[in-house]
Amino acid sequence: MEGLPLLIECAQQIREKVLPLFAKPEAAKTYGKGAGGDQMKEIDLIAEKALIETLEKNNASCTLISEESGTKRIGRNPSAYYLTTDPIDGTTNAIRGLPFVATSLAASETRNISDIDKALVSDILHNITYTAILGRGAYRNDQRIKPSTESSLKDAVIGIDLGTPRRKEFETSFMGILKKASHLRHLGANALEICYVADGTTDAFIDMRGKLRVTDVAASYLILLEAGGTMTTPEGKELNASLTPTQTVSFIAASNKQLHRAIRRSSV
Ligand SMILES: [Mg+2]
Repeated sequence: MEGLPLLIECAQQIREKVLPLFAKPEAAKTYGKGAGGDQMKEIDLIAEKALIETLEKNNASCTLISEESGTKRIGRNPSAYYLTTDPIDGTTNAIRGLPFVATSLAASETRNISDIDKALVSDILHNITYTAILGRGAYRNDQRIKPSTESSLKDAVIGIDLGTPRRKEFETSFMGILKKASHLRHLGANALEICYVADGTTDAFIDMRGKLRVTDVAASYLILLEAGGTMTTPEGKELNASLTPTQTVSFIAASNKQLHRAIRRSSV
């Protein structure tokens, strides 16, 4: 497995194949459930195919951990590297024509989220690429990024995913935040929403539903941490999730420790 340039090439190839399908009816053609449990759409499969072809063309060796096809061994020495991916995060947005769709790619030597050492999230419609290398900071295209210093829950712009039919179970934690925050958003591609916290566009992103897959957040986790932000479980513990297609995570991602604490206090 090569470094960041290979991840960048993969993302570019995916973008090229996916853009013509944006908001087109054929993007929505359905093919049964993928490894992560969601219905696979034409646009998801085209993106994953572009990824696998690019890896093979570059003679890369890695184990792909994908939301669509599950675990797939590629090349001669597939156990040396793991590539955790959601080729298209925001499939519903892409089909409906909402311009907020991402590719997420995270490379690691083990199957644990804390060992991710290279990460890329690309904003497909705006052609913006977020990257991070462990210990070397996070970037939006060529610009180093850092999160905001906003610490007030009332003034912060907070992304929160409330999309679950089990809303009743999460009522207490949701309501605490809903009562205090004035600027709530949910844009529909969680990988990209965490990058928005990393570069200060928003101040926090919260997903406590217990159903978001690790394939969606693996890359943006390193990007946010390298930018200087904080991301933990709702209880304030390290995420420590294993990298498998079905593993789910709940988390609070915030620009700084004060805001993170304010969110935690109001959600318990
Ligand atoms: Mg997806």
